Amino acid sequence: MYDVIVIGCGPAGLSAAVNVRQRGGSVLCVGLSPENNPLWKAERIDNYLGFPGLSGREMMEVFRRHAQDMGVEFCEERVLNTFQSGDTWMISAGSDVFEAFSLVFTGGITRGKKYPGEEEHLGSGVSYCATCDGMIYKGKPVTVIGFGPADVKEAEFLRGIGCKVSYFEKPAKVEIPGSGIVTSVLVDGEELETACVFILRPSLAPTALFPGLELEGNYIKVDREMATNLPGLYAAGDCTGTPLQVSKAVGEGLVAGQKAMAYAVRIRKEKEN
Ligand SMILES: Cc1cc2nc3c(=O)[nH]c(=O)nc-3n(C[C@H](O)[C@H](O)[C@H](O)COP(=O)(O)OP(=O)(O)OC[C@H]3O[C@@H](n4cnc5c(N)ncnc54)[C@H](O)[C@@H]3O)c2cc1C
Repeated sequence: MYDVIVIGCGPAGLSAAVNVRQRGGSVLCVGLSPENNPLWKAERIDNYLGFPGLSGREMMEVFRRHAQDMGVEFCEERVLNTFQSGDTWMISAGSDVFEAFSLVFTGGITRGKKYPGEEEHLGSGVSYCATCDGMIYKGKPVTVIGFGPADVKEAEFLRGIGCKVSYFEKPAKVEIPGSGIVTSVLVDGEELETACVFILRPSLAPTALFPGLELEGNYIKVDREMATNLPGLYAAGDCTGTPLQVSKAVGEGLVAGQKAMAYAVRIRKEKEN
């Protein structure tokens, strides 16, 4: 049981987590390793106050070290589901479930549309999590659509448990034909026999994670405290709107972390009384 769980370990998420620790709270930051973050690819950043000329990689390493030194805990998984149970939040990440009084969502912007056939086959041969669903497909041919270095490891995990894996990194075209249970997939025009297509996108649309979440255009609607319309759920960074910049993400992360912690303290006291 944590005071706060932060989803996403980019600049906004790390800032939120550091500020929960600054207020004495326990915090778990859930997201893939730093090299999977979009900022990692930035050659040079010149508009972050006090650190001109750092590469995105250097900046992510400094941010991450700071959070680690402050006692932030990490879980290197994607969050695939969330739900509210009474006045606490539960999240599932990989094959684990964690609980907290409040959440800060900092998932960045969702890149790329769903593939044709993906939505229809979700749960019947389309999965977003190799460690959760891999065993179901032991001994069978599976296809992994990867988006970054972490996904090669997921493909290796599937091979390790006996799946026959075809791995593709960011293919241009994917289509899952037919209806009912998946039997094949088309990847860049090639048809493969497959029992499951693991699609390992780094981010999920926030409305898929939080049914009922209010948006404003393509971004999450928040107030000045970074609170969303769902009680105990805060959001920060690129996912709340422009400018899509590190300084804005870090500033919003600070507000969201502080307010999520204040919310957690209030709920904890109410439960104790
Ligand atoms: C090439 C490049 C150059 C850039 N140059 C600059 C620059 O010079 N100056 C500047 O200010 N900004 C720059 N930016 C923008 C900057 O990277 C973003 O504004 C910043 O990273 C936003 O931080 P964030 O934490 O909001 O989101 P992100 O950094 O996108 O982090 C969100 C993280 O959440 C993860 N996530 C999403 N969904 C889930 C889930 N369900 N479970 C677990 N994790 C999840 C994502 O995988 C991602 O790692 C650049 C970006 C790029 C790509």
